[in-house]
Amino acid sequence: MVNQVAEAMKVDVCSIYLLDERNQRYVLMASKGLNPESVGHVSLQLGEGLVGLVGQREEIVNLDNAPKHERFLYLPETGEEIYNSFLGVPVMYRRKVMGVLVVQNKLPQDFSEAAESFLVTLCAQLSGVIAHAHAVGNIDVFRKPSNGPAYKTFQGASGAGGVALGRAIILYPPADLGSVPDREAEDISDELRILDQAISSVRSEIRSLDEKMHDSLMAEERALFSVFLRMLDENALPAEIKELIRDGHWAQGAVRRVIEKHTALFAQMEDDYLRERVSDLKDLGRRILASLQEEDSSHRDLSPDSILIGEEISTAALVELPVDNIAAIVTSEGAANSHMVIVARALGIPTVVGVTELPVNTLDDAEMIVDAYQGRVFVNPPRRLRQRYKEIQKEDEQIAKDLKQYETKEAITPDGVSVQLYVNTGLMIDVVRGVQRGAQGVGLYRSEIPFMLRERFPGEEEQRAIYRQQLSHFANKPVVMRTLDIGADKDLPYFSIEEENSALGWRGIRFTLDHPEIFSSQIRAMLKASIGLNNLHILLPMVTTVSEVEEVLYLLERDWIAVQEEEQVKITKPKIGIMVEVPSVLLQIDEFAELVDFFSVGSNDLTQYLLAVDRNNPHVANVYSHFHPSILRALTRLVKECHEYKKPISICGEMAGDPLSAILLMAMGFNTLSMSSSNILRVRKAICHVPMTDAQKLLDDVMKMNNPLIVKSWLEYYFKTHGLADMVKSNRIVNV
Ligand code: PEP
Ligand code: MG
Repeated sequence: MVNQVAEAMKVDVCSIYLLDERNQRYVLMASKGLNPESVGHVSLQLGEGLVGLVGQREEIVNLDNAPKHERFLYLPETGEEIYNSFLGVPVMYRRKVMGVLVVQNKLPQDFSEAAESFLVTLCAQLSGVIAHAHAVGNIDVFRKPSNGPAYKTFQGASGAGGVALGRAIILYPPADLGSVPDREAEDISDELRILDQAISSVRSEIRSLDEKMHDSLMAEERALFSVFLRMLDENALPAEIKELIRDGHWAQGAVRRVIEKHTALFAQMEDDYLRERVSDLKDLGRRILASLQEEDSSHRDLSPDSILIGEEISTAALVELPVDNIAAIVTSEGAANSHMVIVARALGIPTVVGVTELPVNTLDDAEMIVDAYQGRVFVNPPRRLRQRYKEIQKEDEQIAKDLKQYETKEAITPDGVSVQLYVNTGLMIDVVRGVQRGAQGVGLYRSEIPFMLRERFPGEEEQRAIYRQQLSHFANKPVVMRTLDIGADKDLPYFSIEEENSALGWRGIRFTLDHPEIFSSQIRAMLKASIGLNNLHILLPMVTTVSEVEEVLYLLERDWIAVQEEEQVKITKPKIGIMVEVPSVLLQIDEFAELVDFFSVGSNDLTQYLLAVDRNNPHVANVYSHFHPSILRALTRLVKECHEYKKPISICGEMAGDPLSAILLMAMGFNTLSMSSSNILRVRKAICHVPMTDAQKLLDDVMKMNNPLIVKSWLEYYFKTHGLADMVKSNRIVNV
């Protein structure tokens, strides 16, 4: 690259210095123009020389006469005294300097603005490549060589807290060539055998396709099938795949490698026709893979220390697995408030998401530590680190034991204010844990979860049985059932909604109103399930406009009358509420209050929409915070307004389950907080320790602050100094 830049810009020197984080130095990694012997040997301390100046200022330095600059440092090994002009540009990745790119000329003349912007553009592109290369271990020159597998650390976002030690199991979508991991063959002859079977079944599949198309396609259009068959000739693709298997690869990985190699070659071809054959080749690869996956009997069962890793893991895929055996989850995509994370949190599984640099495919069976408090992942960690994390696990077990005493306590502040703690449910395990931890009701039943577990929309009777279970476990207590909330990151395996801008698209009530047959069968099932229990409340997700509620009220009235007639029984009419998730609702509380019985804040989506930040996008995860002053102000006003209209208001987003924000919510006047069962005891402990007068003072303090980070630290400081340090995530930091 340095050669190409030097040539393109017609400069005498182009060099790149990368930051060696461990030794805190910028190392000269490549240069065109400087003494080649100095590459890999010369390095500068942070802040040393002009390179250090670029790094320190995090901005461009453009000088016509570098040796005259006070920060110029002469490095005899590089032979750079003959160069006068200097242009240094920082390579920034996620707000951190990764290195510095420098061009130099003998001629003492400033570089042009065009040169500056060219290098800025180049460095922006380069930063991602370098970050990735670091992550996959392609830039290992800074590390001492070692015999064992390389120890690497990755940063993502904390999803569900906790730590875990175990081995990686890759979860990848079926028949997706790109996501097949590298794995060693357990038994080479077995892999060869299943490959042969797969190849012969793909051959017959193609032959029968050819026959089937005989009448509908012309001979030349069917030529592709004979090309496929030739590619499947024993000496063609299969020979190459087998060679890799004999080298120790498992069959699926060998297929991926061979197809990737050929597609790369085809993609470079000048001829359009040949270039377009790439997709045919991929199609053939997918067919072989699908067939191999059918034959694959080696699918490993999850052992209790399995760390599930993948690019993206859907809620549906997660809940289908034996969840008790999942020690932790790590994904390279997604962010802390995605639906999968919420479910993982409910299940108490430490989860780290948005680890963008995680080389998922290369980590099969790798030893890992997941620190979900800090959103960190360690691959092949050294013994010292494993020991430290085992200690943390023990401390966590102790904290959990201490929290058990709060199972039977009431959430009452030391100055006598009582707060209702409800549980969010979806799976049966949430109900069991909620009851065990003393939840006073269900504040949010995510009815989409049972829908995700099936292969088709469940029928009315099937739904009735599921809802009955939820309602009867909490007999005599309120159960708030939310109507189907699909769309955005909540996909049904059998009804995928693909949209450009899905968070703003066809989701929640927008979808169900367009499908009254699905909506009605759900409402009817809920009504039937509530017979004799009378504890059903219905909650509508993603409401934006008053007319949506009017339409629902009409459908509900109709179904309520019909079900009573059919069942010949009187059914108590459920209370109807809406979720406050879309900002428009905040400004129309008066009008909604005329139509509904209660409000429930979905702070996960409200934060997403109020701050215009995708809750699933790791690149903007730092913008997503429920401590943002605008969220706090909006909620304070909302509670006040609901009280004026005498409408009950609760909150069921993740904000309610975070002890720090729960205290603020209590001070705002929320007297019902609904949360994942995994947070109930922590929040109850916080409420039992923080007097309402302190909570109100804290709320007054933070309402004057304009920065979410300061709000959070202010609350953390209070917790740390009032015997609640174990509730503060940042207190569980391991320095590595
Ligand atoms: C929310 O948006 O806060 C909420 C509770 O709903 P979900 O997380 O299921 O979108
Ligand atoms: Mg929501």
